[in-house]
Amino acid sequence: MNCEVLTLFPGIVEAAVGDSILKRAREKGLLNIKITDIRSFTKGKHKTADDVPFGGGPGMVMKPEPVFEAVEAAAGGDGNKAARVILMSPQGPAFSHAKAVELSRETRKLIFICGRYEGIDERVRTLADEELSLGDFVLSGGELAAAAVIEASTRLIPGVLGDDESAGQDSFCEGLLDYPHYTRPAEYRGMKVPEALLSGNHAEIRRWRRKEALRATMQKRPDLLEGAALTDEDRRLIEELENE
Ligand code: SAH
Repeated sequence: MNCEVLTLFPGIVEAAVGDSILKRAREKGLLNIKITDIRSFTKGKHKTADDVPFGGGPGMVMKPEPVFEAVEAAAGGDGNKAARVILMSPQGPAFSHAKAVELSRETRKLIFICGRYEGIDERVRTLADEELSLGDFVLSGGELAAAAVIEASTRLIPGVLGDDESAGQDSFCEGLLDYPHYTRPAEYRGMKVPEALLSGNHAEIRRWRRKEALRATMQKRPDLLEGAALTDEDRRLIEELENE
């Protein structure tokens, strides 16, 4: 994945993508990420990136010129056709696993525009191929939202996670929530790890995990079951759960 994040607060993005799995992905060349300070495209000695809103009202609005120039520079000369421009905004469709899969396979450069203050001059929207929201709440800036999108998408790129930390069994991957995880000790404060996991019987462990993934999904996110591809065994396990 090849990304460029345009922001007035590069440090927030760098902190979020500079460690752990994303750091490794960058070192392996599986994630290329450039963080660009929109302020470097401002003019004049005050380097002003925001201004008062036309029509009055509270707060400041990010000026269009530096953002237009930053996007054009990031896209490289020929407009934004070679790139996919994503405007982080609470007004966009909510980010999802499906979108993460799509972005992890994107061959074009991804340009993320992060707003601050009351938002960005509306004319910037004409540069964007899409808006993307982290959810129905308002952040103070798009940086953490863009970092979350980059992190969730990057971990789906083959080779980013080791075999033993594969994303394939995580929640949402197969349309279900993940099964519960346990580690040592086998008993803690009277709470025992389920027998099946201690059995060493791989078929039993697999069946237990599938059943518990179905249980978690039924209890916490029953809406997901409608879209999930269920096998005959899944249906039998669901029947068992319903009869418990
Ligand atoms: N006045 C705007 C919100 C501005 S918040 C409105 O109500 O629509 C400032 C910036 O934070 C936005 O420009 C956007 O880039 C970012 N932001 C805030 N909430 C977000 C969310 N849920 N998802 C993605 N970006 C968000």
